[in-house]
Amino acid sequence: MNDKVHLGHRARKRFGQNFLHDTSIIDKIVTAIDPKPGDNLVEIGPGLGAITEPVADLTDHLTVVELDKDLAHRLIHHPFLASKLTVHQGDAMQFDFASLITDERKLKVFGNLPYNVSTPLLFHLFEFYQNIEHMHFMLQKEVVKRMVASPGTKAFGRLSVMTQYYCHAMPVIDVPPECFKPAPKVDSAVIRLIPKTPDQLKAKSTKLLNTVCLEAFNQRRKTIRNSLSNLLTPEEIENLGLDLKLRAENLSLDTFVKIANWIYDNKQ
Ligand code: SAM
Repeated sequence: MNDKVHLGHRARKRFGQNFLHDTSIIDKIVTAIDPKPGDNLVEIGPGLGAITEPVADLTDHLTVVELDKDLAHRLIHHPFLASKLTVHQGDAMQFDFASLITDERKLKVFGNLPYNVSTPLLFHLFEFYQNIEHMHFMLQKEVVKRMVASPGTKAFGRLSVMTQYYCHAMPVIDVPPECFKPAPKVDSAVIRLIPKTPDQLKAKSTKLLNTVCLEAFNQRRKTIRNSLSNLLTPEEIENLGLDLKLRAENLSLDTFVKIANWIYDNKQ
């Protein structure tokens, strides 16, 4: 049996296609999303509808964004789902999620994300944090670990800082490879992300916060005296109350924000 063909569709590696088929895991994901009639639901990468179908059973309408033309076509002509779906065929990384806001109802976004583009896709979604009530995403378990990592651990990096800057993040379900067809080579996990409110986000420029993270973690083994040398002199680092011998992984989210805001106020 060809394990790349599922429900008559040949999985396309370039689109990160690994289709869920384990009903108990699908049930757990749907329970975590907790869809209700009237919700403004959006699925990224519905594929063959493994999560779309049970979510649609519990609600009246949902929007899906699917890059693969054949899969989008199947959904548009789906015998049971079509009447409940608005299908956008295209790249979720280019999609304007704010355009889906109606009656001020925030979005509940979910998806078993294509792993090859998951990080840029998450960064794109963070830009819409004010439009989103919550997100549930299947990702590589290693990515979920990085998103929720604390300072002082190896997994702590730019993805941890930026995720935790925008959202409260918690892992909710572990998913082994055999729940997918074809089975990926890595373990997976579902993460719940609840965007913070604008008053909780203190960076004067998120672009600058991202730049500080990029510089600091680009050479994560080096002390901040060296890794931040393109942005700050040793005196400036000390004036911020920081020990020059620290490494990026020792700094908290608040410290990254403090550094970025100081640069914004004094060097921009
Ligand atoms: N939701 C289905 C499931 O759980 O079985 C499919 C999940 S599969 C891991 C990822 C899905 O995202 C595929 O349907 C793929 O075609 C779609 N996809 C890949 N890149 C995308 C992108 N940039 N924008 C929107 N959808 C994308």
